[in-house]
Amino acid sequence: MSIIENINNLRNKISVTEKRFKRRKSSVSLLAVSKTRSIETIIAAISQGQLHFGENYCQEAVAKIEAINNPNLIWHFIGPIQSNKTKQISSYFDWVHTIDRIKIARLLNEQRPMNLTPLNVCIQINISYENSKSGITLDNVDGFIRELEQFKRLKVRGLMSLPAPVSSFDEQRIPFSILKRKLQELKMSRPGIDTLSIGTSEDMTAAIAEGATIVRIGTALFGPRNVRKHTS
Ligand SMILES: *Cc1c(COP(=O)(O)O)cnc(C)c1O
Repeated sequence: MSIIENINNLRNKISVTEKRFKRRKSSVSLLAVSKTRSIETIIAAISQGQLHFGENYCQEAVAKIEAINNPNLIWHFIGPIQSNKTKQISSYFDWVHTIDRIKIARLLNEQRPMNLTPLNVCIQINISYENSKSGITLDNVDGFIRELEQFKRLKVRGLMSLPAPVSSFDEQRIPFSILKRKLQELKMSRPGIDTLSIGTSEDMTAAIAEGATIVRIGTALFGPRNVRKHTS
């Protein structure tokens, strides 16, 4: 399968799934997860009109962003963040989905270049309660958002999560439905909140059923990834 076919199949599937679960047309946006993918591969996706790309490793991402040098692209950082990478992340990215520490948020806020609009951020939620996973727990979200609201160079857009893999569609829906409920509650008092970043190649349908506004898709778009060692 080529990227061209994959991307059109995915767009179709998203649109059919929106209808099936009574989601508004075009309310789900496709984030192409391009970690480990070559510049040529990304350019092939751009040629099909794809503009949103997600990257996990700062150095790799910055090299690709510089090389592709296309001002129409919207770059999303979706990996764990080390404090020595915040300066680059705050200048090269439009979105950061993986905010789970105030210290990192503070650095991104201080370092966001003044000539750019505030950085869009999502709070990463550890919904499967695994100690090893990144993210804050749901009961800490309200306090965490209140702290984030002091940072004027960040714009809090919503929640992101990567639940532990489970096998069935019904099981996949459970953590997503909890996140959906939390997002609805947050939206009531905060009009700027509009984003639920959930769903990968494995659980995209369940995520759309439960209100995803951004699905983060790598494998279903670009094929299997090579296992890769990386430093950051
Ligand atoms: C790699 C990655 C994805 C994409 O996963 P696929 O299974 O390849 O679709 C989505 N979200 C995050 C946070 C990732 O690291």
